[in-house]
Amino acid sequence: MRATVMYGAGDVRVETVPDARLVEPTDALVTVTRSAICGSDLWPYKQMERSETGRRMGHEFIGVVEAVGDEVRTVKPGDVVVTPFVWSDGTCVFCREGLHTSCLHGGRYGFDGVDGGQGEAVRVPQADGTLVVLPVERDDALMPSLLTLSDVMATGHHAARSAEVGPGKTVAVVGDGAVGLCGVIASRRLGAERIIVLGRHPDRIALAKQFGATDVVSERGDEAVERVRELTDGFGAHSALECVGLEQSTVTALTIVRPGGAVGRVGVPQEESIPDAQPTFFDNVTIAGGPAPARAYIEELLPDVLEGRIEPGRVFDRVGPLDEVPDGYRAMDDREAIKVMIEL
Ligand SMILES: [Zn+2]
Repeated sequence: MRATVMYGAGDVRVETVPDARLVEPTDALVTVTRSAICGSDLWPYKQMERSETGRRMGHEFIGVVEAVGDEVRTVKPGDVVVTPFVWSDGTCVFCREGLHTSCLHGGRYGFDGVDGGQGEAVRVPQADGTLVVLPVERDDALMPSLLTLSDVMATGHHAARSAEVGPGKTVAVVGDGAVGLCGVIASRRLGAERIIVLGRHPDRIALAKQFGATDVVSERGDEAVERVRELTDGFGAHSALECVGLEQSTVTALTIVRPGGAVGRVGVPQEESIPDAQPTFFDNVTIAGGPAPARAYIEELLPDVLEGRIEPGRVFDRVGPLDEVPDGYRAMDDREAIKVMIEL
C-alpha cells in the first residue's frame, strides 16, 4: 500500500510500504477514506533529524472497517468509523475517567509498528475502545466536519473546556490556525458572550468571525495584551485559549487572562517552562490543558456536526489526493493553506 513517510525536516514522501494487516485480536483493519495534515505534523516538518528508516505520519482519519480481530465487538466490516488521534482501550482507569490520552494500554499512530493515518490503510489497535461508528455513508457531505472530530475540533473544545468557557464569559483565543478557529466554534457552542480572536491572517480572521468571533486583535505581544485589556474594562478575559505553543503566545495567553481566570493550553509547548509564574500565581490564574481526550469528546460533539449546528470542516481550505500530501505540508508550513484534507 501507499503511505506518507517523513525522513527529515522538509522531506515528506508518499511511498510503498508493507500492507496494513491485523496483528492482535483486538485490532481492526481500516481502509482510509479521508485523512488530514495536522498543525502538529509541522513541528517535525521543521525540525526532524534525518532518519534512514523514516517515520510514518498522520493521526487524523476516517475510514471503512475491512476486517476485525476475534475479540473486537463494537465495530464490524463495512462500518464507517472515525478515530481519535490516539488509540486507547476504553476500559482502564484513565479511560473510564474520560482521559483516553493517558490510557494505560494506548498509543500513537505512526509509532511502534502501528500505521500512520496519511496512507491507504491502518491497523487500529484496541479497536473497541478507539473507533466510533459514524451513522453516514462513506462519502457523506459532512465528511470534512466529521474528520475534525479526530483531532482539531476536539482540541479546540478541550482548550475551551480547560479555560472554563461558559455562558456570559469573555474568551480570548490566541492563534488563528485551525485549532484556534475550532476554539472559537467551541467557545460559542459553550455560550461565551464575547470571543476575541488574536490573529492577523485576513482569510482566517474572516472565518473566525463567521464562527462567532466578536472582536479581532491583530497586534502582537504587549500591544495585543493592551488591546485585549481595552476591550475588557482593563481586566482581561475570563478565559484564554492557547492554541500555538510558542513562548510568545503562551506569555500572551497568561497575560490577557483576568484574576481568577483560566488558560486552556492545547498548543504543544515548545519551551521547557511556563513563564510568568508570579503574576499568574498572585492572580489565582488556573493553567490547564494538554492533549485533548478526543475519544471522550466525539460522542458529545457528533450530534452537533450531524445536525449542522457546527461546521468545523470549513477549516479545510485545500483538498487533494494522497500524492499531494508533500505539497500539503509545504502549503501549511508556508501559511498558504489553513488545513489540508486528503481524499482517498
Ligand atoms: Zn485506557
